[in-house]
Amino acid sequence: MPDIALLALFLLAITIGYLLGKWDGKNKKTNKYQTFNKDYFVGLNYLLNEQTDKAIDTFIQALNSDTDTDTVDTYLALGHFFCKRGEVDKSIQIHQDLLARTSLTSEQSEKVQLALSQDYLSAGLFDRAEAMLRELVDRNPSASEEVLHTLSCIYEQEKEWGKAIKIAERLKSYGARYGKVLAQYYCELAEQYLAMNDRLRARKLLKMAMNRDKLCIRASLIQGLIEFEEGNLKDASKVFERVLKQDSRYFPLAVPYLEKIYRKIGNSHSLGVFLASSLKEKPTTATILAMTRIIHEQQGEKPAIIFLVQQLREHPTLKGLNALLGLQLETGEKVSEQGVRLFMDLTTQIVEVKPVYKCSECGFMGKDMHWQCPKCKGWNSIAPIEGLEGE
Ligand SMILES: [Zn+2]
Repeated sequence: MPDIALLALFLLAITIGYLLGKWDGKNKKTNKYQTFNKDYFVGLNYLLNEQTDKAIDTFIQALNSDTDTDTVDTYLALGHFFCKRGEVDKSIQIHQDLLARTSLTSEQSEKVQLALSQDYLSAGLFDRAEAMLRELVDRNPSASEEVLHTLSCIYEQEKEWGKAIKIAERLKSYGARYGKVLAQYYCELAEQYLAMNDRLRARKLLKMAMNRDKLCIRASLIQGLIEFEEGNLKDASKVFERVLKQDSRYFPLAVPYLEKIYRKIGNSHSLGVFLASSLKEKPTTATILAMTRIIHEQQGEKPAIIFLVQQLREHPTLKGLNALLGLQLETGEKVSEQGVRLFMDLTTQIVEVKPVYKCSECGFMGKDMHWQCPKCKGWNSIAPIEGLEGE
């Protein structure tokens, strides 16, 4: 098996490095070291012969007879290898034996506990992993990024957003990227409270989200929806209009709400003015079609068609073309009805089967908007697809 050979080489390299380090230094502990050395190479030999069970026993024997803290990293690497190979029981055994050592420094102990919790996660023992990491985090105010991150991932999976927030607040000091994740956690919790009709608490959480990430589109959309449902239509429109400034790629998500609001207010003229100015900044099909509907209502079919054709020349999309054909069918002018229908059926099919959203991290595509990518678990990595077949 090539991975065994690779591991053997890997261990050999570490061992040689270790040997050189020992001899180069003025270490006098040669007797103890020689014992360790012998067991180590016996184990290596088993490994080369693919007798992994015997190899692991020998390594653990060496581990028990050698209390030198310098070997900890080597055994961590060995445990990691078994865990990656799916032999979690062996990895757990190595890490538990390491943890039983009394000579570990606190930093080493944290490393081993982290590795052990990752074994538990691989084995599906979430509770054990959580308890181990929780203890590490509670005990050490300056817990490492990896420990905090692993624990926050557990809370993510369990949808324990309150707990995830507490951990991510500590992660913030490790980089601005955690601000964006934190904002998403606040939005998740806000949505949970909204589902329980607790708008007051949801609003507070959305404020926190915006505080952690000013560009959090999701917070704007949820806030806009709250304002809309409470009848604060002016505030709602302000919030949805803000999306354009935050990140114009997401503006198509706000347009349907803006249309609803202005229709409720009965002022489609103002909406038209705003959408027209937004078109200069970011032409999206959602905006163009909303404008077309307004012109259709106010001035009739012909001016609507003229506007749409003009826009589609500059910003051609299937969705736009589809809408144009629909409008032309209504007027029944120039193009034969049959031809238009055929073309429209085709474009309808294309629009229906095409994914609408795409993850910029892993390329995952789908028809539903997810704030967390279902494939790579990245936050905010999914956005409406742009170009000919998208927005
Ligand atoms: Zn992804």
